[in-house]
Amino acid sequence: MSIMPGAMLGLLGGGQLGRMFTMAAQSMGYRVTVLDPADESPSSSIAERHLRADYLDSNALHELGPTCAGITTEFENVPAESLRIIAEHGVVSPTANSVAITQNRILEKKFLATNGFEIAPYAVIQNSHDLNGALLQTHAEPLSGLLPGILKVSRFGYDGKGQVRISNAAELDSAFTSMSREHCVLEQLLLLEGEVSVIVARGFDGKAVTFPVSENQHHNGILDISITPARISPVMIQRACEIAISIAEKLDHRGVLCVEFFVLADERLVVNEVAPRPHNSGHYTIDACITSQFEQQARILCGMPLGSTAMHGTAVMVNLLGDLWQRGEPRWEDVLRHPRVKLHLYGKLAARPGRKMGHYTVLAETVEAALQLALEIKQSLASCLSPEQLSA
Ligand code: ATP
Ligand code: MG
Repeated sequence: MSIMPGAMLGLLGGGQLGRMFTMAAQSMGYRVTVLDPADESPSSSIAERHLRADYLDSNALHELGPTCAGITTEFENVPAESLRIIAEHGVVSPTANSVAITQNRILEKKFLATNGFEIAPYAVIQNSHDLNGALLQTHAEPLSGLLPGILKVSRFGYDGKGQVRISNAAELDSAFTSMSREHCVLEQLLLLEGEVSVIVARGFDGKAVTFPVSENQHHNGILDISITPARISPVMIQRACEIAISIAEKLDHRGVLCVEFFVLADERLVVNEVAPRPHNSGHYTIDACITSQFEQQARILCGMPLGSTAMHGTAVMVNLLGDLWQRGEPRWEDVLRHPRVKLHLYGKLAARPGRKMGHYTVLAETVEAALQLALEIKQSLASCLSPEQLSA
């Protein structure tokens, strides 16, 4: 049964992904209640209603369930338990199971490996015993071992936070301690030729579509630029889309999902991680596709048919981090004087370094033209920064 426009939808999380979902849902006539513990947030400031409470607050969850026709989440770190509680009242997308797996690197890697998807070699490190085992392994097999590698905390990591690069066995122990000995995975550092991602939208009926594949460039572990369509061979594009759909099917994911891939030599695609929600690398879909990833999220939640993911032209998306605000408000005219560039700001009050404050998307006929203009704008915005800030 479909949820009709006019209905109230529930959203767990107050971030920018939630803000963009809220905008998409509202433009189709839905209303949105945001559950988020902060006083103010990018999505709660524009939603019809804000329930200010913790994601596990039982009163809030029992209020959200019956007052919303369907409920979704904007980030994977909501407790899967909250989704289970809400699901007792009605429609929830994505399901608690899909979120429970993808919010935990250990479960996610096990799920991917068990289902035959290629991932980076890794070891689980949960205690001193595992740590010694990993050390033994790396000593015994220096070439096929996991070093140099990256120690990643199993939960709550994002934008490269909760990750330490390890070049030798001696560093592993102190890195694990620096993570407060939380459960971690040690992943082999791969030699990357590039990174790509695929956004999948999969409905309750199991029908799935993919958006055009993006090529992603990171800086300091944070997504910097997304170029779409990705400059990889048609065969790789097809393989990436098939793998992404297959992951969504194996998870029985209902909603939008993103699969991040590492591209290795010889056109090898290795799955990096899975996000059970719209993704930063899919922001280009707002301006460059017939249906955005957020509109698909709303359509799926409401049991409506999926929209077309076809793209008009090519797009390059550039993230705007808080660093840009260090000398005051950036010169937005440098972005907006280009008629085919779209600016998105998330309404965040404090511009801290490394914090995602907004993004812009350059639309053009060719990837080369879009990329060139995107970089020119990036440079002119950065020219307001001091040399120390630029080299940081
Ligand atoms: P986000 O949530 O923003 O996607 P994250 O904190 O979950 O990021 P990852 O995606 O695991 O982090 O890693 C961030 C980036 O670090 C990757 O996109 C890649 O550039 C680099 N990286 C991570 N793991 C590896 C690896 N095993 N080999 C080489 N590079 C890696
Ligand atoms: Mg990532």
